[in-house]
Amino acid sequence: MSRTVYDLIGLAAGIAFILALKGLSHPKTARRGNLIGAFGAGLATLVVFFYSNEGSSLPLNNLGWILGAIAVGLIIGVPAARKVQMTQMPQLVALFNGVGGGAAALVAIVEYLNLGDQATTAVVIFTVFTVIVGCVSFSGSIITFMKLQELMTTRPVIFPAGRFIIAATLISVLGVGGWVVTALGTTPLLILAALSLLFGVLFVLPVGGADVPIVISLLNAFTGLTVAASGYVLDSTLLIIAGTLVGASGTILTRLMAEAMGRSLFGTLFGAFTAKPQDVAAAGEERPVRSGSPDDVAILLNYARRVVIVPGFGLAVAQAQHTVRELADLMISKGIDVAYGIHPVAGRMPGHMNVLLAEANVPYDQLAEMDEVNPTFGQTDVAIVIGANDVVNPAAQTTPGCPIYGMPILEVNHAANIIFLKRSMRPGFAGIENELLYDPKTMLLFGDAKASLTKVVSALKAL
Ligand code: NDP
Repeated sequence: MSRTVYDLIGLAAGIAFILALKGLSHPKTARRGNLIGAFGAGLATLVVFFYSNEGSSLPLNNLGWILGAIAVGLIIGVPAARKVQMTQMPQLVALFNGVGGGAAALVAIVEYLNLGDQATTAVVIFTVFTVIVGCVSFSGSIITFMKLQELMTTRPVIFPAGRFIIAATLISVLGVGGWVVTALGTTPLLILAALSLLFGVLFVLPVGGADVPIVISLLNAFTGLTVAASGYVLDSTLLIIAGTLVGASGTILTRLMAEAMGRSLFGTLFGAFTAKPQDVAAAGEERPVRSGSPDDVAILLNYARRVVIVPGFGLAVAQAQHTVRELADLMISKGIDVAYGIHPVAGRMPGHMNVLLAEANVPYDQLAEMDEVNPTFGQTDVAIVIGANDVVNPAAQTTPGCPIYGMPILEVNHAANIIFLKRSMRPGFAGIENELLYDPKTMLLFGDAKASLTKVVSALKAL
């Protein structure tokens, strides 16, 4: 296959990636977008087997190794992706992303060793960049995976003189990077990789659980940049296009998520070192609450004119999306005005609630974004909070220093009545008490969200 044909096919794959991103921007077209992206990735992988670049070790020379590696990837990746629970998706994304960054760094190292003295200064600079960012992305992603999988504490890990140690490691990484460019050689490159791996770990440790998704998105953007730089080293336009797209979209997503959580990126990464002690009551403290039965909830709903459903992580755990739709449909059939209030970081991944509700075919026009629904809580008779906690916690507005302070919330506290469906008094992801649970206008319906909703639906049907 000639270089021109190879490049044209690469261009087609690049266009598929752009169309995929366009499709993924709306729930209606997301599935198609995903398929187009997968097609582009498949095409990009296949075409390499039919093109051999003069003087390059890639790809046909090592066919056995390449096919073996693909087989291992399939054996591990396909079952992992099929079995993963929707609630564990961020961990899986973190892991896949980290492996991508690590792979790009390894490829750049191999290509650098292969080129030896023939490597131009530009190629060496791109190799250094790829190794640094790829290794940071790899080790940082492993730490984010361990935090979200609760294999280690989800709280920020801070250590004495942490900021200085992190800064010193970064300076060492940059210094050794300069050494590789001037001295060339395997030893400095391996030292660079080791220091970059260390920096990735140190950089993610101080980030608390609730902010980890922002860091996953940032590392994802890093991986994109690594892939783009390795595209330069390997002389592959396709890698440059794909890497740039991931880098740019990852950067935009990181910014949007940080905004949704009311954080600056710097505050997300290093806020733990300057955080003040919190005034929020310690979780688990015994105080009276008002709990009700499914019948009480059904009566309240039956006489409401407007109800806002606020779904959160617990809805995903309980897999209650179909039952919540049944309840909404039933209320609508009784003439009640029903909307779903969607917080951008409800659940455990961006768009989690949209995906979940789309699975139950909830009409999109019933979903209201936070900014749209917040002004309506004053005219809402019942806000029914199903497995959500942090995204409605007023501490985000009232308690400086608490882990979610500054995060915009769904202001259910302005509704006339609040119903919370949860199993216990345990706090949400950020691990802090929610004063709203003790509010006199709040009624708690304890139990698994799906079981509780099923009972509420039966009780409401009987009225
Ligand atoms: P939270 O984690 O704050 O609260 C979830 C609630 O669901 C808990 O109160 C829990 O209480 C309840 N729950 C769990 N399982 C069930 C069940 N089976 N039935 C009924 N209730 C259940 O979730 P939110 O959605 O409010 O907030 C998301 C949090 O996650 C935020 O802090 C956000 O920053 C963070 N985050 C967001 C990500 C994203 O991109 N969306 C990614 C990672 C973290 P109980 O145990 O008592 O039942």
